[in-house]
Amino acid sequence: MTSGFIQVAETAEFSQFATNIEQWPSSSRGELSAIVSALLTVPPNSEIIIQTDSKNTIDHFNKIEKTNFSLTPRQYFRQERNGIIWNILSEIIIKNKLNVELKKVKAHSDNVYNNYIDNLCKETHRNESIITFKNTDLYNIDIIPKWKNIRIDQKLRRFLTLKSNFSGFEEFYNLNRNGKYRITEIHWESTFKILNGDIENNSTNFESSNKKAMKVKFLIEELSTINQMKKSFLSLYENWLCQFCGKEEEHFDHIWTCQENLEILTQIREHVIFKLIEEIHKENELFTEENDILHISSIWNIEYSNDRLTFIDIIKGLIPLNLYRTINKHLNKSKTEKVLYNFRNLIYDEIMKNIWRPRCSYIKEIEKEYGITKKKKLDHKNQKNYDNIFRKVDDKNREENLEGLRNYIYFGGNIFDYYNVHVH
Ligand SMILES: [Zn+2]
Repeated sequence: MTSGFIQVAETAEFSQFATNIEQWPSSSRGELSAIVSALLTVPPNSEIIIQTDSKNTIDHFNKIEKTNFSLTPRQYFRQERNGIIWNILSEIIIKNKLNVELKKVKAHSDNVYNNYIDNLCKETHRNESIITFKNTDLYNIDIIPKWKNIRIDQKLRRFLTLKSNFSGFEEFYNLNRNGKYRITEIHWESTFKILNGDIENNSTNFESSNKKAMKVKFLIEELSTINQMKKSFLSLYENWLCQFCGKEEEHFDHIWTCQENLEILTQIREHVIFKLIEEIHKENELFTEENDILHISSIWNIEYSNDRLTFIDIIKGLIPLNLYRTINKHLNKSKTEKVLYNFRNLIYDEIMKNIWRPRCSYIKEIEKEYGITKKKKLDHKNQKNYDNIFRKVDDKNREENLEGLRNYIYFGGNIFDYYNVHVH
């Protein structure tokens, strides 16, 4: 990330400056760093007019001006971000008795100076220069919180939320059963947005929270399959196989690969692909490249794979990166998310209606025949231990120490980008 200024007023000499800035990249940090570096170049008692297109920066500047550029520690820690640099700015203004005014200009207008500084920043991006704002001897703050030796230049509560979200994600990412997703490419951002229903806003009622709980079970492969039941009630289900084909163990993947379900699952797949293409077309009439969607390698295959994404992963709710990108080529981000959200929902509804719910009522009947009641289950809970040989164990590419978070602090961008592709 770069930051820079030029001095063009006739009352002073022409000067220019541009540099890279470190950590917590954001457009407001770029603006603010440029302002501070400009103020460092002017003699004491000067009057300065700074033109910027950042309204946020101007608003925050005006707030600080009201405190006569002396923030209390409490005020300091309430700032959303860049507290250290705002502090340094205040100190320069006070010590050098500067009279500073910020003026709003339109972003990216055809202003020659605007283009000039843009080019200067582009050149700077390629060189190694960097400016560091030190936090020793701040006028109002003795202690700056740090994480892994990185200064937290952001509101503390916001950072802790971010960190806790990251920890939760990494814990999920590191699960044995997710080993495959550490060697394939998932679009994590949309996967979680869709799961959390951020796109739809009626997500607080009971029905939808039930639905979400069920979707989480799909994602972590915790549907109560017979194999899953064996974990708790082995003495009751020990010799049970899939009750439809009678040939194989009924574990999570088998539900989708069972020969008895192949026909219906194939129908569901054709239906959801058809609807997906229809929706993309509804959002963008120019879209005609259906084959781009149909030919994405392996994701429509109804099979289990150790190292490729298949339709089973889509049933679980994972969004393959190449599916996301293919749609995103034709639709903007929010439309891509909306289309994928409806796609995921449709799969879920169809699977529940045509496969999982009928399967569960059938199993209930059989349990009745065998006299397996709730009470009997409780009595038999964990009488025998079950060694689940169908649970995949894989420790490839585990992420530890929140490297993704550190990456975000240094380079910005989307917090999940780091985990999408595995060549770091
Ligand atoms: Zn079967």
